[in-house]
Amino acid sequence: MDVHDLVWLLLPVAAASGWWAARRSARRRASGQNEYNPVYFRGLNHLLNEEPDKAIDVFVEMLEVDSDTVETHLALGNLFRRRGEVERAIRIHQNLIARPALTSEQRAQALLELGQDYMRAGLYDRAENLFKELRQSRMHVPQALRNLLLIYQQERDWAACLETAGELQRQAGEDRSVEKAHYYCELAGAAERQGQHKQARSLLRKALSEDPRCVRATHLLARQAAARGDTEGALRLLCDSIEQNPDYLPEVLDEIVSAYRSQGQQERLRGFLRDTVARHPNQGAELHLVDVLRETEGDAAAIDYLNQYIARTPSLLGLMRLLELQCNTPGGENDSLLQQVRGQLRLLLQERAAYQCGKCGFEAKTLHWQCPSCHAWGTLKRRPLRETK
Ligand SMILES: [Zn+2]
Repeated sequence: MDVHDLVWLLLPVAAASGWWAARRSARRRASGQNEYNPVYFRGLNHLLNEEPDKAIDVFVEMLEVDSDTVETHLALGNLFRRRGEVERAIRIHQNLIARPALTSEQRAQALLELGQDYMRAGLYDRAENLFKELRQSRMHVPQALRNLLLIYQQERDWAACLETAGELQRQAGEDRSVEKAHYYCELAGAAERQGQHKQARSLLRKALSEDPRCVRATHLLARQAAARGDTEGALRLLCDSIEQNPDYLPEVLDEIVSAYRSQGQQERLRGFLRDTVARHPNQGAELHLVDVLRETEGDAAAIDYLNQYIARTPSLLGLMRLLELQCNTPGGENDSLLQQVRGQLRLLLQERAAYQCGKCGFEAKTLHWQCPSCHAWGTLKRRPLRETK
């Protein structure tokens, strides 16, 4: 909707309001006063002079606030905010709140709207105060808490997030365990950065007791174990994380492979990869298997295995690895066409977004635990095998 549509929408509303005003002034005239309201004509004048923005301001100004027009004001404010005209929305809602005649429900509704205007304008402090006021007055509590949660996430105040999510669970019966586990992971990350390893570990355990499927917490525990030099412990946790959520296998696979390799356990690595590709078909694991085959049985065996794999599951990355193997065979380095195709494929792969949010469809090249678009937690996953690497 552009500004012209809006002004035509407002015109009859303003005219009706003008009619009310006229009726009132007629009543006043009857009591001896003589008064008329030229504002409507000023608005029309702006319209005729092709100044729709000024016309809108005039029409909004002439909508008097009384019990009959509160709904209109709320609807208008909402409309302005949705159109991105936050300043106008703020003016309307502030004007509403300043009226002493509002019922407490109408005032709460206007506070809720104004808080959302402030959030849209990036004025988080002001928004926070309004939502806290609503929470205290026990009006629109779930909406106020949900907005507070968005603000605290924006400010990365994870302790406040935990408290607010807990309140939402108690007050509105909403399941917030997935988010709470991520808040604990965020706090654990901060503790870890300050060298408080014990504190970090206990926070990660809390994350897992909130959400036993929180693969992020298990992964962080595994990294802690690896940093302590406990490679076996790290390996066990990394393998646990695959059972928790096989979707995140690509995120932990390389760490598992390096852990086996650092221990010189090639046979165990081979067994793990064979078992993994059988239970959770996965391209990364197939390609690691090709590496192991190449090391133990040579190029020909690796190329043969890869050819069979690509025939079953065609993919750019598989094709690229095949080209790399071919380039490495005697005479392969001199084949300029092969080199050229390999270069182009590499570019293609770099350009593709590897992750996608399962909730809103947002695409990203790297993994975000919180979707930057819809703010949901743990919804970004690698795209299906055939579409990407
Ligand atoms: Zn999303």
